[in-house]
Amino acid sequence: SPLAPGLLAPGLLPPSLLVLLVFAKEDSQNNGFCWACEKANFRCNVARTPEAALECFKEKHHDLVIIDHRHSRYFDAESLCREVLLIHFYLNGFVDLFGVCCCRPDREEASVMPLIKSGFNRRYVENANMMACYNELLQLERGEVLAQFKLRACNAIFTALEQSQEAIEITNEDQVIQYVNPAYESIMGYQQGELIGKEITEVPKSEKNKPDLLETINSCIRKGKEWQGIYYAKKKNGDSVQQNVKITPVIGQGGKHKDRRKGSLDVRSTTSRGSDGSSQRRHSSMARIHSMTIEAPITKVINIINAAQESSPMPVAEALDRVLEILRTTELYSPQLGTKEEDPHTNDLVGGLMTDGLRRLSGNEYIFAAKQPHLPSHLAMPLSLNDIPPHVAQTMENEDSWDFDIFNLETACLKRPLTYLGLKIFSRFGVCEFLSCPEATLRSWLQGIEANYHSTNSYHNSSHAADVLHATAYFLCKERVKQSLEQIDEVAALIAATVHDVDHPGRTNSFLCNAGSELAILYNDTAVLESHHAALAFQITTRDDKCNIFRNMERNEYRTLRQAIIDMVLATEMTKHFEHVNKFVNSINKPLAALEENGSVKGILTSPDNRILVKRMLIKCADISNPCRPLELCIEWAGRISEEYFAQTDEEKRQSLPVVMPVFDRNTCSIPKSQISFIDYFITDMFDAWDAFADLPNLMQHLDNNFKYWKGLDERKLHSLRPPPE
Ligand code: AMP
Ligand code: ZN
Repeated sequence: SPLAPGLLAPGLLPPSLLVLLVFAKEDSQNNGFCWACEKANFRCNVARTPEAALECFKEKHHDLVIIDHRHSRYFDAESLCREVLLIHFYLNGFVDLFGVCCCRPDREEASVMPLIKSGFNRRYVENANMMACYNELLQLERGEVLAQFKLRACNAIFTALEQSQEAIEITNEDQVIQYVNPAYESIMGYQQGELIGKEITEVPKSEKNKPDLLETINSCIRKGKEWQGIYYAKKKNGDSVQQNVKITPVIGQGGKHKDRRKGSLDVRSTTSRGSDGSSQRRHSSMARIHSMTIEAPITKVINIINAAQESSPMPVAEALDRVLEILRTTELYSPQLGTKEEDPHTNDLVGGLMTDGLRRLSGNEYIFAAKQPHLPSHLAMPLSLNDIPPHVAQTMENEDSWDFDIFNLETACLKRPLTYLGLKIFSRFGVCEFLSCPEATLRSWLQGIEANYHSTNSYHNSSHAADVLHATAYFLCKERVKQSLEQIDEVAALIAATVHDVDHPGRTNSFLCNAGSELAILYNDTAVLESHHAALAFQITTRDDKCNIFRNMERNEYRTLRQAIIDMVLATEMTKHFEHVNKFVNSINKPLAALEENGSVKGILTSPDNRILVKRMLIKCADISNPCRPLELCIEWAGRISEEYFAQTDEEKRQSLPVVMPVFDRNTCSIPKSQISFIDYFITDMFDAWDAFADLPNLMQHLDNNFKYWKGLDERKLHSLRPPPE
């Protein structure tokens, strides 16, 4: 069984043991062990015959088996033990089961050898005293059983080493190689057998390293410190490869060991500290960006070229500049997600949000009811910025603050927050003037769009759109963003945010593809929802002059605006998440950080390609900014998205469709765990990058705070949104 390495830490015990008692008759000895199990909190089964014992063992696979060896007339304890062990061996491939036999006192003098030969590892001399039974169990648990668990944990860790894509080498304290993993073999070109048992000094070294490097490393290790840095290793074929190597001394019972990791270019930046707190924090965000955990191959390639440029002559460095240029603008950015994530929450989120469902195609048919876009029932209702009801206007007073409470507005305006907030924000940004459109048209348009959001969705309703619009407007006011974008970009961003999830059915792309929905058929299982949101937005807008906000635009300008809106709505698709984030980091964060000293950043900020990247990142961050909102708002959003996922799982079960995200089952889901995974996997790196660009200390503070909140609940093993009342 896979066990957490934490098990190896002293003081930690494996989960409650499962014990099998094989006693032909219920007597005081049998009862003593039953009681002891109960007191020790072990689960326990009792079998009266060898057949029942084997049956039960096959099914439950106990950690500890206690067999009554006192009366040979009932059954042959030794052959039963052998059979149990055999089953255990077939199930696990190794013999580590713990068997205890219970003997009569008059056998105490006899040798234990026959028992050991049959597979028992311990003899317990008949003693029905409950405390004696209990003590025996406790000693077994703390001693041999725990040792077996540790061995199994080691086995799990070695499996992980074998699967790791990083090259790992372990030596003993005399620098004799004990182990190299398959990644090491394939990167370095050696076979295990050629290395194990050799001293590392016997393996050829590259001449490219500075002469004193090995001495530096050795003195570091001798002090028990870790060493990390660039090292040239020599492959078997003689080639030198530059690697980022980490060497860690392992102090343990067996002495000191070294562990060398190669292959990953996880560059730790040593940026200088600025004088004010904000620039320090942004530097640390930058440093984290450099060590992004989910690193795409292209990022590694760019880092290698950057490092090579430093020591290259001018013409080579310039040629490499052009190489970088090309690499930055191609589609090689998605990280490798083939390997299975350990954590089921991350796994399900990645599977559910980042694939189109092709992995789990089913033959089941489920067609979404085809329907015409909604016409808002209250189009005729007069509504302008001037006649927003005062109690609604009041809830929008601090609309320019990040801590603005969208749920107050949602309640005050009877679930029409998009129209009201839209009117206010669009007016603040002069959108009607830019589009040359009357305010009445904008109002009808907002109402028309809002009417096509499903108020029955718990998350993807018009409050989510209003929330994303709010975040978008907030980001647009940040100094760096203003320097980068033009007014047409701002208008595109506000419109894209407003429409980005219109007519969302409250189900994920994977679900629609699995169900063979009309939309999935229409869009070939590719970016189904996002394509639909963008297309429907333009249908709603242009089919009726009354709400066509683009009607008075000049043709070319309309085309540019339309393209920008479509690009941003499509950028909210999660399958492209890492591509967008990595492009932003490589083309914007890193060049900006490199240039910061000289101050000439304008070129980077305003190039057309980079403006597109800024807009994509902006809407993406706005779209999933709920983990960066003040705690109460963050909790409410987490509750809503979880409920929507639960409803999808319910429906998948009802319709016998594949369950796309099994952890989102309302009966078993841990919401804190799911939020921790979502933040770890999608949010942290993205907001580090966005913060390094736009400077968002308050968001990062909330994110930190919220993450700790979910961790706190999870540590208390709570599954709910909030702790139970005191
Ligand atoms: P969109 O559908 O445009 O809102 O894209 C954002 C994606 O992120 C959606 O698939 C949401 O389900 C997902 N998402 C947003 N917030 C959370 C959250 N707090 N926990 C888990 N998933 C989320
Ligand atoms: Zn959204």
